[in-house]
Amino acid sequence: MSKSKSDSLDYIQLRNLQHYLYCPKRWGLMNINCDWQSNVLVTIGDVIHTRVDNAKLVTNTQTKITERAVPVYNDFYKLVGKIDALELTRSPQGVYVSKYGDKFNFAIIEYKKAKPKNVSDYSMDDAVQMYGQKLCVDEMFGCDAKIILYYCDIKKRITVSANKELDDLFFKVYQEVVFALSNNIIPQKESDQNCGGCSLADVCLPKCYAKDNSIKKMILEQNEKIT
Ligand code: SF4
Repeated sequence: MSKSKSDSLDYIQLRNLQHYLYCPKRWGLMNINCDWQSNVLVTIGDVIHTRVDNAKLVTNTQTKITERAVPVYNDFYKLVGKIDALELTRSPQGVYVSKYGDKFNFAIIEYKKAKPKNVSDYSMDDAVQMYGQKLCVDEMFGCDAKIILYYCDIKKRITVSANKELDDLFFKVYQEVVFALSNNIIPQKESDQNCGGCSLADVCLPKCYAKDNSIKKMILEQNEKIT
């Protein structure tokens, strides 16, 4: 699949990519149908981000400067978003940042409430979102930023490998999001979708789709087309 940009669309929020990878249907309900419902898991995530969402909270030490809630963009792929924390480590080999009058190595930090139980290091949903952040920061500053996940439950940093597998997955999801937005499509529920904890379950009604009931299925599908 080519890595073409979205010429016909406005800038795409980076969180779209993570949401789409988690569940394309949930992404479609939120972004095409403008549906939303919160639940306790969403609220916990919001609380965790409260501290890092304070853009005025900048820590500056001899070795490191950390900015929070940093707006980022990539003009080539028309991506826009906000990163939890941008860590600038002073280094003679780094990139010069005029507002601090020094050279730095860059690291993007994303805070997550819990490490996914079914993976050894990190989920690809999280990694894809962070790869998009890296594309933005690298374009803005001409650097090669590290990408690091911080899991609050285990209080541990895990470095995400920006390898070819992640690059390919990012652009696959990016193209699918661009296609769905361009054509106003809500993707169907995937057969192996894990719906545990989804705040939109009452809107999506995933169990109705699980039953082999053609009339109910047809009505639900027609309803989606109308709404
Ligand atoms: S209930 Fe399941 S299929 Fe429906 S939006 Fe949520 S995660 Fe996706």
